[in-house]
This record gives sequence, structure tokens and C-alpha cells, in this order.
Amino acid sequence: MDRTNSRDRELRARAEAVIPGGMYGHQAVGLLPDDYPQFFEKGEGAHIWDADGRRYLDFMCAYGPNLFGYANPQIDAAYVRQLGLGDTLTGPTALMVEMAEAMVAMVSHAQWAMFCKNGTDATSMALTIARAHTRKKTVIRAKGAYHGAAAWCTPRPAGVIETDRAHQIFCDYNDVGSLEEAVRQAGDDLACIFAAPFKHDAFIDQAEPDLAYARRVREICDQTGALLIVDDVRAGLRLARDCSWSKIGVQPDLSTWGKCIANGHPISALAGADKARKAASAIYVTGSFWYQAAPMAAGLETLRLVRDTDYLERITALGQRLRDGLAERAKAAGFSLRQTGPVTMPLFLFDDDPDLRKGFCFSSEMLARGVYVHPWHNMFLCAAMTEQDIDGALDAAEGAFGVLKRNVGDLAPVEKLAFLSAGAR
Ligand SMILES: *Cc1c(COP(=O)(O)O)cnc(C)c1O
Repeated sequence: MDRTNSRDRELRARAEAVIPGGMYGHQAVGLLPDDYPQFFEKGEGAHIWDADGRRYLDFMCAYGPNLFGYANPQIDAAYVRQLGLGDTLTGPTALMVEMAEAMVAMVSHAQWAMFCKNGTDATSMALTIARAHTRKKTVIRAKGAYHGAAAWCTPRPAGVIETDRAHQIFCDYNDVGSLEEAVRQAGDDLACIFAAPFKHDAFIDQAEPDLAYARRVREICDQTGALLIVDDVRAGLRLARDCSWSKIGVQPDLSTWGKCIANGHPISALAGADKARKAASAIYVTGSFWYQAAPMAAGLETLRLVRDTDYLERITALGQRLRDGLAERAKAAGFSLRQTGPVTMPLFLFDDDPDLRKGFCFSSEMLARGVYVHPWHNMFLCAAMTEQDIDGALDAAEGAFGVLKRNVGDLAPVEKLAFLSAGAR
């Protein structure tokens, strides 16, 4: 898509001057095809509009936060109502107690909840609580699993020193042998084991949790007294109306939540079992905005919709429709497309595409047809999507596969991602 003279280009040029690197984090410059917009102006339901007014069906859902549609009328009305009454006050409102009650009622392993702003706050707090609870230091977590952007867990090494990473041992997700080896290395110093609800690392196929692995993690925590932490920040509420591992019958001691729990309003949560309550009340954690009432009003309304609607069944059916339709169209065009992970959080990767040139071309062609997909990060479905939206995306895919087929011999390599994806593979 030609973006010369676009508002997006102009904003990028201005950003270059006043924002380090032009942009940072998960939408840093260069991580997506060049024709992807960097800036947006609005979102409504399942759609986003870029700074040039182009509309897309959005399969990123803000990287997770959009569960019930952008600008959801019920959720945003609750938010605005509370904003009129008071948001950041000297202390919390009654909504904080109600939100904790709602989390405890929803998350079967939990008897208490604490609130913060970002997923990283929740995972960092979980780590601190595990160390306070066990008086031990070592954390075991899976290689390549994302738990946030604090020094202890950021995926980029710049500015991180060894002591930030001390007392961490890495294992391979779903590999009981490597888990047991990590536990052996931890000796009698194991504070906690982190687990993603399923393997949702970037650049590689997603994988369901292996039941034997999940059970062994639970068993080791029971034997050693370490805490099991399920990081549900990304997958929470897209697999279950409970902690995602409730589906496989394995209950953690702590679970971390964020992204969609208030449908895009800033609040995250840590939910915990009684055994960790004392440690949770002993640590000092807070933030100037952690008592904000309006995101809690939005969160309560979001959790009400989780309880009272068939959103989960609907996004599952829509995700299946997308997966089946895409498989059919990829096959018809002669491509081997791997679609992995739960259907509500799909990831597409092409076979024989080590530097993602096919993925980039396919994604760009989808974008040109008004569908925003991601070439190497898992995507998300939201409850504002309809069957017509999915069918429209499938029509777009048919066109995109056609262009890819014609051009597959002369695609330029995607070099800028090599250092990132090489680490993941
Ligand atoms: C996004 C994410 C986090 C961090 O959440 P932020 O709100 O970005 O700090 C932690 N864990 C997982 C699994 C995530 O996907």
C-alpha cells in the first residue's frame, strides 16, 4: 500500500524526533511490514481506523485488551459514570471490594485479589509474594515465555545486569525432563514456578499445555512448598471463565490477569489462594493510579458480561470458522499454513518461511484488503466480531494467497527481524 504523503508518515517523521527510536515496545519501528500503520485514530466494535482514516477488521484486539469490542457501550458507560464521580482519589472506592469479590467468585483457585495497572505489575508482584512466602529466591520459568517488561523478565538484554536476572532457571515448556532438571538445580531454594496457560511465544508455533507437564509442576510445588503461578495476563477470559488451567484441572496458587479484564481500561490483577495471603499482605506494593475507580467500574461491567453472555462460545465458534476457512483457502492456493493455539488466539505461520517473507507478504495483502493480522505474534478474537466479518476476512485471505502465489519467487527477505526470530527458534 502506498503511504507516501500519508498522515501516518508525517507522524512517524515527527515521532522520530521526539520519541526514542520513533516508537518503542511491541510496536517498535520495523517489527511489522512497512505498509502497516503506526498510528490509529479510533476503534469501534471489531474495527480500528488508522491515522489516515482507513478501516480494518482488527485481529490484534490491542494485543488482547479488546474482548467485547472497542468503545463497548455498556462498559464505557460504566467507566464514564465513575469518571464523573471520581477516579484517582485519596483512597479506593467500594468498587475495589466489589472487583475483588468478583474476581474471587470467578477464579476458582483464588480467595483474594489485588489490583494494579499492568500485567508486568501483577507478574512482578507474584514473584515478590512467592519469595516472601517461601523465603526462598529461585524462580523457574520457561525459555521464550513472556511475563512482562521489568528488568527480571524483559526479553531484550539492553540495560539489564546479571543481578536483575539472578536466581532464575529456565526450562522448556511441556518438557518434564527439563523441568525436573531445573528443579534439581534449584536445590532447596525454589520460590516459584511460572507457567503460561499454553505456549504462546512469538515467532514459533503455539502449543497446548501438556497435561503431564502441568500436573508435574503442581506436584513439585506441593512437594517443595514453592508457589505455582499461572500467567493468564494474555489468555485469561479467552479460554475459560476461570483461570485457564482450570480447563485441565490444575489449580495454581497465584494467577496474574490483565489486558482484557476491563476491556482496555487500565487495570490488572493478581488472584491468590489463602496460603499466600499472609505474604501478599506483608509485601509493599502500590502505585499512584492503582486505586483508580473508573477502570474498576469498567472491570466490573466486563466481568458481568463474562458471566452473563455467551461471548466465549461465540468467539470460539468464530475462531473455528476462521481456522477452517483459512485452512481450506491456503490448501486451495497450494500453501502449507500452520495455524496453532486456541482458535480464540490464533497464530499463522507458513512452512518454509524462515525469514517470514511469506508471512509479511500475506499480512500486507490482508491489510490492503482491510484486515489487520500479525505475521508472527498470536492474534485475538473479540465478541464484537460477526460471522460476516470472518467471511470477509476469508475472502481477503483468498485474494492475499493469490497474490502470494504469484509473487512467492521474488519476495524480498525480511532482514530486520532475523535477530529476534532467531532467538525464538
Ligand atoms: C502482556 C503480557 C504481560 C505483561 O502485561 P503488560 O500489561 O504489558 O505489562 C505479562 N504476561 C503475559 C503472558 C503477557 O502477554
